[in-house]
Amino acid sequence: MPSTLNAVAVFCGSRFGTNPVYKQTAQAVGQTLAKAGIRLVYGGGAHGLMGVVADATLCAGGAVTGVIPDFLESREKMHEGVAELIVTDSMHTRKQIMFSRADAFWILPGGFGTFDEMMEILTWKQLGRHSKPIILINTANWADMLLAALDAAVEQGFASAEARAMIEAVPDVETALARSLCAEQSDRVAVDQL
Ligand code: AMP
Repeated sequence: MPSTLNAVAVFCGSRFGTNPVYKQTAQAVGQTLAKAGIRLVYGGGAHGLMGVVADATLCAGGAVTGVIPDFLESREKMHEGVAELIVTDSMHTRKQIMFSRADAFWILPGGFGTFDEMMEILTWKQLGRHSKPIILINTANWADMLLAALDAAVEQGFASAEARAMIEAVPDVETALARSLCAEQSDRVAVDQL
C-alpha cells in the first residue's frame, strides 16, 4: 500500500504514568514509526513518555522533529539528541507547527497537556479545518474515562455523532498505523486559516 503518511504527531505525557506498559507502548510507537519510514513530530522534551518515544525512534534510525516553546526548554528538558528541534515563542506556535508538519495525530497516555492537545486537534477537525486522522492508542484502557466523556457529550446533545467519529480509539500501535494509512489523506489547511 503506498504511504502518503510522511509524518505523525504524537501527543503523550511528560511523565511516565504508573503502569509500565505505557512506556512499552511509547517505545513501540517510536520503533514502528522508524521502521515505516515515518517522521515523528512531537513536543521536543526529554522527560516522560515524550522522551521515550523520541529515544525509541532515534535508536531505530528514524527521523524526529521536536517542537518546544522557549519557556519550557528547561522545565521539560529539551531533547539534545533530536536533529531538528524547533524552539517557538509560545505554546500556540508550537501547536500550529506540530499541526502543519503532521499527516496524522496519535494520542498516547498522558495528562492534562495531552488532553488539551487532543481536544484542540479534535475541535479543529470538528470545525472543518482539517481531515487528518486522529488515533487514540488505548493501551491498557488508559483512556476509557476520557472516551466516555466524549460519548456523554453526544448523549447530552452537546456534540454530534459525526464529530465523535472524528477520533478513533485503537488497542495497539499496529492498528494505529494501519488505520492511519487507510484513512483518507488530508486536505492541507494553511496554518493561518485556523
Ligand atoms: P502532560 O500530558 O500534561 O504531561 O503534557 C504533555 C505535553 O503537553 C507537554 O509537552 C506539555 O508542555 C504540553 N502541554 C501542557 N499544557 C498544554 C496546553 N495548555 N496546550 C498545549 N500543550 C500543553
